[in-house]
Amino acid sequence: MNHTIEKEELNPYLIAQRQVDAAAAKLGLAPHITELLKKPKRVLSVSFPVKMDDGTVRVFEGFRSQHNDAVGPTKGGIRFHPGVTLDEVKALSMWMTFKCGVVSLPYGGGKGGVICDPRELSTSELERLSRAFMEAIADIVGPERDIPAPDVYTTPQIMGWMMDTYSKLRGHNTPGVITGKPIIIGGSQGRGNATAQGCVYTIQCALKDIGLPMEKAKVAVQGYGNAGRIAARLLSDLGATIVAVSDSRGGIYDPNGLDIDRVEQLKDTASIADYGSEYVLTNEQLLELDVDILIPAALENVITKENAPNIKAKIIAEAANGPTTPEADEILNAKGTIVIPDILANAGGVTVSYFEWVQNLMNYYWSEEEVLEKLEVIMVKSYDAVRTLANEYDTNLRTAAYMISLQRVTAAMQARGWV
Ligand code: GLU
Repeated sequence: MNHTIEKEELNPYLIAQRQVDAAAAKLGLAPHITELLKKPKRVLSVSFPVKMDDGTVRVFEGFRSQHNDAVGPTKGGIRFHPGVTLDEVKALSMWMTFKCGVVSLPYGGGKGGVICDPRELSTSELERLSRAFMEAIADIVGPERDIPAPDVYTTPQIMGWMMDTYSKLRGHNTPGVITGKPIIIGGSQGRGNATAQGCVYTIQCALKDIGLPMEKAKVAVQGYGNAGRIAARLLSDLGATIVAVSDSRGGIYDPNGLDIDRVEQLKDTASIADYGSEYVLTNEQLLELDVDILIPAALENVITKENAPNIKAKIIAEAANGPTTPEADEILNAKGTIVIPDILANAGGVTVSYFEWVQNLMNYYWSEEEVLEKLEVIMVKSYDAVRTLANEYDTNLRTAAYMISLQRVTAAMQARGWV
């Protein structure tokens, strides 16, 4: 990150609080309601030992934050990343509350994280770490309490191990404790693609708004994990030209369009940089490319006041959580860039997680077509509601999205007699 930006501006927790303030002011919420919404209800901090393959023991640290459960049980992923901090997890849990609010799911927001680098762990070390973390947080999670899911560097396999550990602790199979599981043990059809698919539905809405056909759109994707990789594939299948993609090691760019089959193959077997040295570019360069659609699909704070003036994309679809700082937001607004905010653009993941949880509770499973049909209805309806409110209040999509969810959470807190 850029050293000229003071540290405070990049603290995700402070950023999330500022976003709440902005929408609360527009809605005229009472100060005590705003105050309540700006802090998580409960945070658990854990340390736990994990036996490594070489016989040594390492102690890991992790967190689970439950922001607000007025609407329903808390919900949100678990992140495994060396950069995880308590403030980050708190911010991510707040964003989950507002994300569930925008798409009207009967959930509040939660989030978990473990400080670790899963890329340096063997499969068996990763399994022991995943099971140990679930054991450490088991007292506060559960299908009616708080339901984790995948996030950065966590996978369906990890969800499977965690579900198994929780089920063993409770003495019976409990698939509804976690979502994003392998299909054979209660995962949902369509969950793997859901974050990207939901993001694509919102991009289709935004393209319609500006009258640009998908076949003419040039796209750059920053981050090549579950969200970015699948978004690139889906958009390319719809006729868009993917001109650049990147992962944590760097990116590749071809103004005439990348061969997505080849990029996927390289990612699985070697490195995307092997596409050819003449195509290589940095993550920073990728963000400033002359494209129609930019999809930040990795971590927080990649679009700051330093690079926002140079961003040329007409539409930014935030597949990542928190990729844009408030200062950058202002610069982009002034330029007329359409920013589809994270709490809307990446809500497809938690929406299909909700479908998975419902299927687990019913023990009755849906086809992929059924899942996608329901997802599209929710995403398009939510986008339309956000855009309509943004026009009405003459504000941007992010503030409008916050206004919708803050109103919903506030109404639930009032109905319960909390405020
Ligand atoms: N980690 C994802 C998110 O940030 C998914 C959460 C979920 O499915 O519960 O939205």
